[in-house]
Amino acid sequence: MSFVRTVLGDISPNEIQQTMIHEHLFFDLSHVRNETDSILSDSPDLEDELCQVKKFGGNTIVEVTNLGMGRNVTGLARLSERLGIHIVCATGFYKESVYPEEAFTKSREEIADLFTSEILTGVGDNGVRAGIISEIGSSHHEITAAEEKVFRAACDAHKRTKAPLSTHCELGTEGTAQLRIFEQEQVDLKHISFGHQDLNTDLEEQVLLLQSGAYIQFDTIGKNNYRSHRDRLENLLNLLDKGFEDQLMLSVDMTRKSYFRKNDGPGYIYLFDTFLPDLRKAGATDLVIDKLMIYNPRRFLAFAE
Ligand SMILES: [Zn+2]
Repeated sequence: MSFVRTVLGDISPNEIQQTMIHEHLFFDLSHVRNETDSILSDSPDLEDELCQVKKFGGNTIVEVTNLGMGRNVTGLARLSERLGIHIVCATGFYKESVYPEEAFTKSREEIADLFTSEILTGVGDNGVRAGIISEIGSSHHEITAAEEKVFRAACDAHKRTKAPLSTHCELGTEGTAQLRIFEQEQVDLKHISFGHQDLNTDLEEQVLLLQSGAYIQFDTIGKNNYRSHRDRLENLLNLLDKGFEDQLMLSVDMTRKSYFRKNDGPGYIYLFDTFLPDLRKAGATDLVIDKLMIYNPRRFLAFAE
């Protein structure tokens, strides 16, 4: 029996409707960025955004905040219950520049044990279990030694638990190097999703990742200062033209309060009220959009052989 592991318990993959595949709801990188914009928490503004996501048919959020990034799984469970949205929470370490001390001091084996226990037993002692290993990151144009150790530990934890695994490619870089690790570790690529690929302007590399059988994410939609709306849309259409509609998933990766719509940012709803309508206008059928938003996430998020 395959299932999706949410903060409130395991559900059938069929309960999942439109899904944001890479988000942050509780988040704190203020200690790294030296400002308070990068703190997200349960607030009326967040609730307002999520209620609008719900109105557009979004019912599942994959919350990839992990150890060292201000993760709050009991907060996520409360939010999920109150708003009636499925939330999948993550285990993992992010990238070297924000690793907590234990990412450096623990061995590969110890890290794999930690991730495994957060998936099978729970995060801390509150019973909320992680449903994804994410966002496992590399640095800009580099996978450091510590990051490589974490990647291999994440592979170990995936193989023990069958949990899905998604990555962070800093500004879209290092996908090929990440793929090499997954291949060396003999991970079944259909359980892997490469993050931030909409910031990768190397189409050939995107195709290489997709040909491995993995998913790739266009998950910084609305961050138009990194890449224009038009470029991102055309890149996606190009990949759809090439027939990769069963391996693409979408999200907006909100990590700052200033990104909220109320603060003149794109907001979580940018995906629903701006990007998807433009994708549809450009010729994507309802079925293709349902694949990107519903059917691909259902398949990817399922714990399965
Ligand atoms: Zn990321």
